[in-house]
Amino acid sequence: MTSYPKRIKKINNWINGKTKITPNPKWVEKYDPHSGKLMSVFIRSQEAQINQAVLSAQKEFSHWSNLTSISRGQILMKVVQEMKSQKRLLSQCVSKETGKKFTDAMGEVNAAIMQGEYFASEGMRFHGRSINSMVPEKTSFTIRQPHGVAALIVPANTPIANIAWKVFPALICGNTAILKSSEDAPAIANLFAKLAHKAGLPSGVLNVIHGYGSEAGDFLVNHQAVKVISFTGSTDSGRTIAKNAARRLARLSLELGGKNPFIVCNDADLDKAVHWATLSAFSNSGQRCAAGSRIIVFKSIYKKFKDKFVSKTKTLKLGVDQSSDLGPVINSRQLKNILDIINNAKAMNGKVLCGGKRSSAKGLKNGYYIRPTIIEGLSNSHEINQIEIFGPVATLIMADDLHHALEIANDTNFGLTAAIHTSNIDNALWFSKRVRSGVANVNCGTYGSEPHMPFGGFGLSGNGTREPGIEALDVYSELKNISFLTKDLNI
Ligand code: NAD
Repeated sequence: MTSYPKRIKKINNWINGKTKITPNPKWVEKYDPHSGKLMSVFIRSQEAQINQAVLSAQKEFSHWSNLTSISRGQILMKVVQEMKSQKRLLSQCVSKETGKKFTDAMGEVNAAIMQGEYFASEGMRFHGRSINSMVPEKTSFTIRQPHGVAALIVPANTPIANIAWKVFPALICGNTAILKSSEDAPAIANLFAKLAHKAGLPSGVLNVIHGYGSEAGDFLVNHQAVKVISFTGSTDSGRTIAKNAARRLARLSLELGGKNPFIVCNDADLDKAVHWATLSAFSNSGQRCAAGSRIIVFKSIYKKFKDKFVSKTKTLKLGVDQSSDLGPVINSRQLKNILDIINNAKAMNGKVLCGGKRSSAKGLKNGYYIRPTIIEGLSNSHEINQIEIFGPVATLIMADDLHHALEIANDTNFGLTAAIHTSNIDNALWFSKRVRSGVANVNCGTYGSEPHMPFGGFGLSGNGTREPGIEALDVYSELKNISFLTKDLNI
């Protein structure tokens, strides 16, 4: 067994309101994306650890689900208060694990807090419907009921927001939960659970397990006692999880990848379009399911837009300090994947207009930094325009007109988000109604959904569910229709 120096933090599972020490543990190493150095190790959970977590959640389910939704909401609001008072601590943890600058991490913590506020107050609006019956004296209404134990599986790109996105709606509905942390952000999952516990969340309501997706995640998805699985991550992992969940018809929500088009029409405000294209493609180092990775530009303004977009991109600063614009990608595997994609594009005669390489700058060269990259000259059917890159790489594609731009936008198996820049409201609405995506934005970025807005996509971007927004309640609860036949009093 490898032994680690004291400065390397050891991250254990969090089960039944306590850190759970595993005898003879196996560890997985987590590296700092900024420096490339080992920063922590986390437990490589096996079936026995998953069983402990599931048992803990099962035991607490009866108590938690029998509280009124208002009481659950009051407890969750205390969790939100605790998050507010520990904003710095949460932001530091996010910043350290992901390599994003502190203020970006703080923005993410704020989004997680809003998510919590929204769903905690949903406890007071946990409405059903009253339904008319065709039968005299029959009264019908619906109530929402929790599924039981929920498996919440998250990625690392915006880790605290991803956690809040799932934990708050799952718990307000009365489920108890097991959060499977991302291999790239294990510490933030424990920190969140500890703060929640300190704020008064009963032991066992939220448990955290760490490990590989293909082991710990797989055991969790296949556990008979897990009644609902909510997964955010790559389309490939989503497919595997869907197959496993289908065997026992467990309830499943899949929030997957994207290949999002960003359209620039000839009547767009070009400076504004450049601003939003840059943010859509490169903020969070392009590690967004909603990243704008295909920039589709009308022929008549293509050159003008390209020049402005490339020169703006060349000014972007890599790093973690406050003056930087984008940080590293999350791990060395992703670094290699992205560089391979860029090199394949070059080999196919794609023209790299800027970036295209790992950063060799002082202080960054050991981290997983890729210079923001723009590539042109490859058709939409080329691999680079069809696969999700999840890094700071965008392509430029030329379109003849709006019909052509829509055709290119929809020529993808994904369908998560889209944006169009135009000053013509008719064109904006025409496009927004026809683009095959769960989100369509006009004159802003391809990202930017809020806690009360439904988010999800067509095709390979998901399985049709929407989280968050009120629609998340449909993921985490079952609807029951109750009917009474009462006596006709004949008076
Ligand atoms: P990933 O699929 O590799 O891993 C995500 C999580 O799933 C991790 O916790 C991992 O351990 C777990 N996992 C992997 N395989 C599993 C399996 N077979 N069974 C159970 N769990 C398993 O994704 P990633 O690279 O960490 O994250 C990036 C992906 O997430 C991108 O595709 C991105 O688009 C997507 N994403 C989607 C949304 C959305 O809302 N649609 C939001 C953020 C990120």
